[in-house]
Amino acid sequence: MTTDDPVRAAGAATGWADLVTAVRGCVACPELAASRTRVVPGEAPAGAGVLLVGEAPGAQEDETGVPFVGRSGQLLDGLLGDAGLRRDQVAVANVLKCRPPANRKPRRAEVTRCRPWLDRQVDLVDPVVVVALGGTAAEWFVGPGARIAALREQGRVTPLLHRGRRLLVTYHPSAAIRFGPRGAPLAALREDLAEVARVLAEVAR
Ligand code: URA
Repeated sequence: MTTDDPVRAAGAATGWADLVTAVRGCVACPELAASRTRVVPGEAPAGAGVLLVGEAPGAQEDETGVPFVGRSGQLLDGLLGDAGLRRDQVAVANVLKCRPPANRKPRRAEVTRCRPWLDRQVDLVDPVVVVALGGTAAEWFVGPGARIAALREQGRVTPLLHRGRRLLVTYHPSAAIRFGPRGAPLAALREDLAEVARVLAEVAR
């Protein structure tokens, strides 16, 4: 079934599986609905304590319907492992569920139309920690003009919250790839995923 009304359809989803079915039928953004191969709803293993939020599917995600399976995803999996977290213990979603053509940046109107899906996903996963990966996700949570470096600093002083949940804002794995192994984004991402593991260990005690 198709829907062009994510507000209603996401609100009506009573569980993750329900939401996945509904989002796969979303045609709220006609350009994206026409150009995508697959919708990439995200993944939510039962009991996941963390929800990682990226920007939008890339080519490989669009092909497979699975988030973070391309180069960024491979780096992310390795970094999660280094932090003692397994990919099948974390929930993963994106600000946009469809690949923007040629990997262009999501448009503001697309982010707005897609917003109810991620909103509902946060509630359904109900994670202890939400991690915004990169600028688009940071803006989704914090608002326009969100700056990662400043938010990381701020979060160290006073933990950031999203609707009562701990929010960590960090770099997107693609930035870590772009800046290379000695770049600041990789080090920051490593540090921040270690912090996620610490927070989860703390609540598990
Ligand atoms: N980049 C993202 O932001 N999300 C994905 O799922 C893949 C790459």
